[in-house]
Amino acid sequence: MAARPAPVLIFGAVFAAAVVLTALGYLSLRRWEAAAELQLREQARDTATMAAEKVEMTVVRAEQDGLAALQAAALEPDFGSSSVEAWKALHPLFASVYVCDRRGRVLYPVRWSPEDAELIDALRAEISEKLWVRGGRRYLEAGEHVLLAAVIPASSRGPLLVGLLRDEQTLTREVLPRVLGGDGKSALAILDGRGQTVFASEPLGAAAPVLTVPFREALPAWRVALYQPAGLSPRDMVRRQAMIFMAAFALLLVVIAAGLVATYRLVRRESEIARLKSDFVANVSHDLKTPLSLIRMFAETLEMDRVPDPARRREYYAVLTRESERLSRLIDNVLDFSRIESGRQRYDITVGSVEPIIHEVLESFRHPLDQQGFTLDVSIAPDLPDLAMDGDAIKQALANLLDNAMKYSAERRHVTVAARREGDGVVVEVADRGIGIPVAERERIFEKFYRIGRSETQGRRGSGVGLALVKHIVEAHGGRVTVEGEPGGGSRFSVFLPSAAPQRQRVG
Ligand code: ADP
Repeated sequence: MAARPAPVLIFGAVFAAAVVLTALGYLSLRRWEAAAELQLREQARDTATMAAEKVEMTVVRAEQDGLAALQAAALEPDFGSSSVEAWKALHPLFASVYVCDRRGRVLYPVRWSPEDAELIDALRAEISEKLWVRGGRRYLEAGEHVLLAAVIPASSRGPLLVGLLRDEQTLTREVLPRVLGGDGKSALAILDGRGQTVFASEPLGAAAPVLTVPFREALPAWRVALYQPAGLSPRDMVRRQAMIFMAAFALLLVVIAAGLVATYRLVRRESEIARLKSDFVANVSHDLKTPLSLIRMFAETLEMDRVPDPARRREYYAVLTRESERLSRLIDNVLDFSRIESGRQRYDITVGSVEPIIHEVLESFRHPLDQQGFTLDVSIAPDLPDLAMDGDAIKQALANLLDNAMKYSAERRHVTVAARREGDGVVVEVADRGIGIPVAERERIFEKFYRIGRSETQGRRGSGVGLALVKHIVEAHGGRVTVEGEPGGGSRFSVFLPSAAPQRQRVG
C-alpha cells in the first residue's frame, strides 16, 4: 500500500514540469516574437532609409552637375537666352529654369506663364540678402513644387539668381530605375505628396506595405515605401517561425506524454508480473503439497497394513499412482516453463499418429474423471494424418487442457475430447461444461501467470503457467490454440497441429 504513492508522485512531478515548461516556452515564444518582429522592422527601415539616401544623393549630384554646367555657361561673356536653351537641351532633368539678376529682372525665360510667374515671385521673395552676398543654394517649396534656388557668379552682370524646377517624369523614368534596382525580396516604391506611387522597383501586386521613410530636403514631400510580397511581411515571417516552434514544442510534449504513458504501463506491467510471480510461488507450493500429503497418507496407511480388503488396497494404490502422476505433471510444467523462459526448451520431433497419444492421456485421466463424477465423450476420426511432433510435449499440452477442464467445471461434469482432420492437419478439442471464459479474457489466459480474477476467487488453485505452456508447445509445432465459449456455458479449447506431410516437403 505504501509503495503506491511513489509512481503517482513521480508522474505528478513530471506532469507539473511539463506544464511549467509549456508555460515558460509560451512566454519566451511571445517575447521572441515581439523582438523578432521589431528586428525585422528595423531591417526594413534600414533598407528603406538606405534607398532614400541613395535616391537623394543621386538627385542632388545630378542637380549639382547641372548647376555647375549652368554656372560655367553664365561665366561666358556671351551668356544669354540661347546659352540657357542650349544648357536645357543637355539637361532633361530640369523642366523649367528661371534666371534673375540682382535687381530682380527676369533674364530667362523671355516669356512666362502665370504659373511661371508664381514660381519666379516665390524665388525672388525667398532669397535672402545673405545668399546674394555669399552665393550658395537651397531648396524652396512653392506649392506642390520644389525649386532649387542658387546664386551663381556671372561674368559681367554680377551674381545671378537661378531657380531650377525638376522634371518629375524624367526623374521617375530615368533616374529612379537606375538607383532602385529590385533586390528580388522586397519592393521599394516612391510615393509623392498625395501618397500616389510615382515609381515602384517591382510590380507591387498583392505586396503589403511594411513602412515608409521620408526623404530629406531634396524631395521633402515624397517618401520611400518598402513593400514585402504577400506572406513575407515581418509579421507573417515571425508568425510562421512561431508556428514551427509551437508545432515542434507540441511534438516534444506529445513525445514526453507518450514516454510517460509507456513508462507508466511498463511499471504497471512489471509490478503486475512481480505480483503474479509471488502468487505463482504460493500456488505452486500449494499445488505440490496436496498430492504429496495424499501420497503420504495413503502410503502410510498401506505401510501399516491397515487395509485388509484387497479391492480397497487396489484403490489406494491407484490413488498413489494418480497423485504421483499429478505431481510429476506439476513438476514437469514448472520445469518446462522455466526452460521455455530461459530459451532452453528443445522438442524431440518424430513422425507418428496423435491417436495413441490422446488415448494415453485419457487413460491417465480415466480414474480421476470417474472419481470426480465426470462423464467423458471421446470421438476420434479414423483418417487422422501423421504429425511431426514431440509426443511427450503434446501429451503434456493435452493433459493440461484436461486438467483445466476438470478444475474449472462446476455441477455439470462432462468432458468431450475430439480429434478430426482439418485442412492439412489435425484439430484436437477439449471441451467442458464448466464456468466458461469471458470473451475479454480469451487472449490473456494464454499469458504466463495470468489467472482470471486470480482464480482463487473461483475457488481453484493453479500456477497460471499451464496454458502458456500449451500455447508454446503448440506454436513450436507450427500449430495454434484457440478457445470458445461463454461464461457459464463451458469452454472449448481447440488445438490445431499441421500434418507431417507439408513439413516434410518444407524440409525437402
Ligand atoms: P491455472 O494453473 O490457473 O489453471 P492455466 O494457465 O492453465 O493456469 O489457465 C489460466 C487461467 O485460464 C485459469 O486460471 C482460469 O482462470 C482460466 N481457464 C483455463 N482453462 C479453463 C477452462 N477450461 N474453463 C474456464 N477457465 C479456464
